[in-house]
Amino acid sequence: MSATQTDTTIEIRPSAHAASPEERAKLMTNPGFGRIFTDHMVVVQYKEGQGWGKGVLSAYAPIAMDPAASVLHYGQAIFEGFKAYKQPDGGIACFRPEANSRRFNKSAARLAMPELPEAIFLAAAKALITQDQAWVPGAVGESLYMRPLMIATEPALGVRPSHEYLFILLASPSGAYFPAGVKPVTVWISDDYVRAAPGGTGFAKCAGNYAASLVAQRQAQGEGCDQVVWLDAIHRTNIEEMGGMNIFFVYQEKGETVVVTPELTGTLLPGITRDSLLQLAREQGFRAEERKITVDEWRSAIQEGRMTEAFACGTAAVITPVGHVKSRQGNWTIHNGETGPVAAKLRETLLNLQHGLSKDTHGWMKKIV
Ligand SMILES: *Cc1c(COP(=O)(O)O)cnc(C)c1O
Repeated sequence: MSATQTDTTIEIRPSAHAASPEERAKLMTNPGFGRIFTDHMVVVQYKEGQGWGKGVLSAYAPIAMDPAASVLHYGQAIFEGFKAYKQPDGGIACFRPEANSRRFNKSAARLAMPELPEAIFLAAAKALITQDQAWVPGAVGESLYMRPLMIATEPALGVRPSHEYLFILLASPSGAYFPAGVKPVTVWISDDYVRAAPGGTGFAKCAGNYAASLVAQRQAQGEGCDQVVWLDAIHRTNIEEMGGMNIFFVYQEKGETVVVTPELTGTLLPGITRDSLLQLAREQGFRAEERKITVDEWRSAIQEGRMTEAFACGTAAVITPVGHVKSRQGNWTIHNGETGPVAAKLRETLLNLQHGLSKDTHGWMKKIV
């Protein structure tokens, strides 16, 4: 399904109760992640036969929905996440938003939802970031987190794709994920639960994937861990992801640094951070590989000293080192439970690029303001 019309104008209806500079400053002193939102949001409606309507930017507010709206019953809901960063010249730029737009449409297709033209996705981002630019924090590690979502709103209990949808864009100032310095996490390898199976929705950023992951995350916490590591559904041996992030392993082989991440099989979420780090790793002179890696290999490579680091990556936390691994097959420690040099280097390289402190040789930064 594709839209039948593309109107990329966003009507601006400024909020009558926007936060004062003092209120905003107070909220932004310790924003955390996903807790505070800017003054506005963008909403675009889709109706079968008419396509996407005109986008409206208006005050951030609750949305009214029919209790029979199909998203509430059958879960047609997808989302994205990307960030806007203050640049040294005072402007604001987003990191690879076109990639998020493409992935949004792949998620939409998997859930039988209409694709949203990239021009509308980007116009909504530009309108909201421009309107709420005072909410973009400035320090390295801080950003305005953009949260696009699409939900099925038609009131209909028949099980079929909805004929009506809302695209919504929210913006949430976010602080440094590790305000006290990067701290490696302890992970639990889940063998009771799987995140995604072949033919399922693993590659799509859909709400249901997250709903199904929560009980495993709670189990990991019960085991004294911060995050869960997901294995493939068939063999329960291949490592796929860590929580809502992709995962990397660092090997030292004959004097060469090799960075390995599980290959995209259809059950993994194709992270934009993952893709970016593969490119940046090669430019650092590392070898970068996408292949299968099993739990047994993880443990033995650590024991034999061939693997020196492991870390997870995603838009929210950029890079999170893994310090300790716990599982029913045993426990092991990586790099003495501390951040390793490859994770630190890649993290710094990516953050410098996003904050405009190094040259954007890939054309990844999209200037907004
Ligand atoms: C969003 C997400 C990621 C990371 O993707 P980025 O584009 O790097 O933010 C990884 N795994 C899952 C399950 C995700 O939902």
